[in-house]
Formats: sequence, C-alpha cells, structure tokens
Amino acid sequence: MAFPTLQANYKIPNSFMFQFIQLKSIVHTKVTLKLPTTPLQGTHTLTIITRCMSAPTKPKSLSLCYKTLLGHTPPHAFNYVKQWGKEDMPELTDNQWLQSLNALKGLTSCFSHVEAHKKVIYRWYLTPQRLHQIYPTMDSKCWRCGSREGTMTHIWWECSGIKPLWSQVQQLLGKTLGYTVDLTPMVVILLLFPPTWKKGAKKLASTIILAARNLIALHWRSTYCPTHRELLNKIYQFYRYEVLSSDSHAKTRLTEQLWEPWLSLIHHHPL
Ligand SMILES: [Zn+2]
Repeated sequence: MAFPTLQANYKIPNSFMFQFIQLKSIVHTKVTLKLPTTPLQGTHTLTIITRCMSAPTKPKSLSLCYKTLLGHTPPHAFNYVKQWGKEDMPELTDNQWLQSLNALKGLTSCFSHVEAHKKVIYRWYLTPQRLHQIYPTMDSKCWRCGSREGTMTHIWWECSGIKPLWSQVQQLLGKTLGYTVDLTPMVVILLLFPPTWKKGAKKLASTIILAARNLIALHWRSTYCPTHRELLNKIYQFYRYEVLSSDSHAKTRLTEQLWEPWLSLIHHHPL
C-alpha cells in the first residue's frame, strides 16, 4: 500500500512519511523472506502500519506488531554456519553452536585464547580458498601440501602437512588421559567432544588443542609443521599462564588439579 493511499484513508500527516518507510522496510525484510506471496505480505504490512498510525493508538498495538513480526521470522542461519556446512561439517543445532562458542568459558582467564577460538568458528582467518575468492589470480590450493583446495577444514585439520602435529596431540592426549582418543574436526575445530568424555578431560584436551591451533596460526601461510618440542613448550606456556593468573589459592589449586594428569605425565615420563 502506498503512503498517499494511507494518508487518504487514515488522515495521516506528511510528517509520518519516514516512520512509514521504516515500518515498510522492517515488514518487507521479516515477512517477504518467509512469505513471498504478495496478498499475505500486503495484509501484514497493512495490519502493522494501520495499527501503528491510528490515532489515538489502539490498545495492544505493540503486542500485535511483535506477534506479527516474530510469528513470521524466517529461521536465520548465520553465514559462518552455512560456510562450515559447505565444508561437510556435520549439521549442528543452535545449542551446539552456542556450546562451541562458549567452549572455553570458565576454562581460561586469557581473553586472547577465547578470541582465537571464536576467530576459528567465525572463519576469521584467510585461507587460500577465501583469498582466491577475493583475489581470483591467487591460487586456491593449500600452502602446505599444494595439492588440495585450501578450505578452512583442510588448513586446520585435513592437510597432510599438518597431520604430524595432530598425531602428536592425539598421542599426548592418550598418554595424559589414559585412554585412546579420536580426534575429529568437531573436536579439533569446534571443541565439541563426544558425551563419553569426562569434564576434566574435555577441559585439558581443549587447552592442548588450543595450543596446537595457536602454533598453526603462528605459521600461517607457510609449509612448516610445528615440532613436538614447540607443542610441548606452547602447552607449558598455557599452563603457566593459568597458574600465574589465578588470583587465589583456591583457584590455583583447581588449575593444578585440572593439569595434574599432564604434570604427572611430564614428571614420570619426560617427553
Ligand atoms: Zn594441505
């Protein structure tokens, strides 16, 4: 419905033109995506606009607007979720994505660790494939192996050039936790563990995986694969940071309890 028609029908002053455009834009965004048929869209537009502009305002107009808009909000998929889906990441629920984003909550006091994890989920890092989309003359193949498409999943997990690092992580986790662990893209990239993993094991594994990912990011756009020694040093740095940043004896004790399996492994079997 055009503004002049509304003006004629409801005696709306010219000063409401801007509000009319705002409302029209909102209704079109919210309603047309789910309900492309013009008659229904027109009905919703008319309902909301006439309600908002009627003077004096009719009771429960705001509730009606919210009900109309929320009732037809299309299911929203974030771009990073769509992009991970294109790389064959298993389909996850909203709760699982939230769980992944909050995987480090209460685990570390280091903001840069939390930020680094979210950067991976949000696909902040520029991979060869992404760079190729931006600059078509650039090669989309992986920097390390040079043979496969440089997708996010490939760079962080699949690449044969980075496999030795993940094998080391797997062995270290096995020795630390006392049982064989299977690393998957869900675990390595999203820090989403199978339900059989115990809480302490998940926390320790998250930090060790984070240390490995930190090394990959440090050698971004490189053919280099971080060594076993570099991995151990990085894990130790993470451990020391958590101990030094503990602001009470109780917190230090909790941190040491969490890291006890790792410290025990280092103490009894120098790596
Ligand atoms: Zn590769």
